[in-house]
Amino acid sequence: MRIPPCIRHIAWLCIVCAMLAKTLAAPASLALPTDNNHLFQGESAQFYMYVNRNFEGKTSRPWKAGTYGFVRNLKRTEDGVIGTRFHEGIDISPVKRDKANRPLDDIRTIDHGVVAYVNNSASNSTYGKYLVIEHGWDSGPLCSLYAHLSEITVKAGQRVNKGQKIGIMGYTGTGLNRERSHLHLELNLLLSTQFDSWHAKHFKGSKNHHGNHNGLNMAGLDIGSFYIAQSQDQTLTIPRFIKSKQVYYKVTIPRNGPLELVTRYPWLAKGDHQVLTPSWEIAFAASGFPVSVAPSKRPVTAPTVSSVRKCLSKHEYHTKEIIRGTGYRATLSEKGKRFIQLITSEHAPAAVVE
Ligand SMILES: [Zn+2]
Repeated sequence: MRIPPCIRHIAWLCIVCAMLAKTLAAPASLALPTDNNHLFQGESAQFYMYVNRNFEGKTSRPWKAGTYGFVRNLKRTEDGVIGTRFHEGIDISPVKRDKANRPLDDIRTIDHGVVAYVNNSASNSTYGKYLVIEHGWDSGPLCSLYAHLSEITVKAGQRVNKGQKIGIMGYTGTGLNRERSHLHLELNLLLSTQFDSWHAKHFKGSKNHHGNHNGLNMAGLDIGSFYIAQSQDQTLTIPRFIKSKQVYYKVTIPRNGPLELVTRYPWLAKGDHQVLTPSWEIAFAASGFPVSVAPSKRPVTAPTVSSVRKCLSKHEYHTKEIIRGTGYRATLSEKGKRFIQLITSEHAPAAVVE
């Protein structure tokens, strides 16, 4: 059968539009934020900024402490030597310095987006001067965060293109000196839009200067590994990357309605959310990054750890102190209970009726 030319044109137009929409929505190969591209040359020691370490009397300057994960505050445990302090992002070394050893590297966006937040006060955050860019990918609003800058050259609300200059590297914030100047880069999910009221409830007397873009309200994914994985598979999306992450623990919570987190990131939904069950079961990576949310038939009256990876040492070392116990025994710590309140908005007065 012969297809009329106008129909063929419309069909082609639809295909092109669909391809364009996909290109705009997905994080098509993220750009590196500085001129340091040693990551893709396999030269990790030149890409990541080291940390000055003193462990069991031995000093060292390991670049691995600049990667994402439990890479800091080493402890000898029944599970061997493990890092007990979590690093939410990656630390990228400067490639240009002036005669006084100050970094000169331009900081650029990893993709197009909108400047969601700018903190120009070096003293009111451990991040020093930092900014957050929200990316409208089809995986929901993900936020890249650029910290310890000496100068920020964009304003909140401004649209930015991929690779656009947004600031200059520095050493503002906590625990840095000129020698260890670096860019701290994160790629985050937003945990809650009710952060301010959660903060006011649990941190009485301390002011939240950063609205929803406070570091406590963002869960970072392993952006260093994502760069490498995406360089090997250009079709890789954030949801697919997250699905491959190992689950450390699951928490079952009473089901009081749809979770805001799942509404914002629908790809977190696992199983049939239309089937009414008494509970939700949320799976977390060791970092507390939510990996999936599934309906659960197990009735609970309060958030309960329903599954945990076995370890010989204390779970608190492996989970940012969110889980307590050892082996298959595990309970939520007070910090863990607060964390679950934040991501379920259970601290907020109004419960949503499904
Ligand atoms: Zn860092």
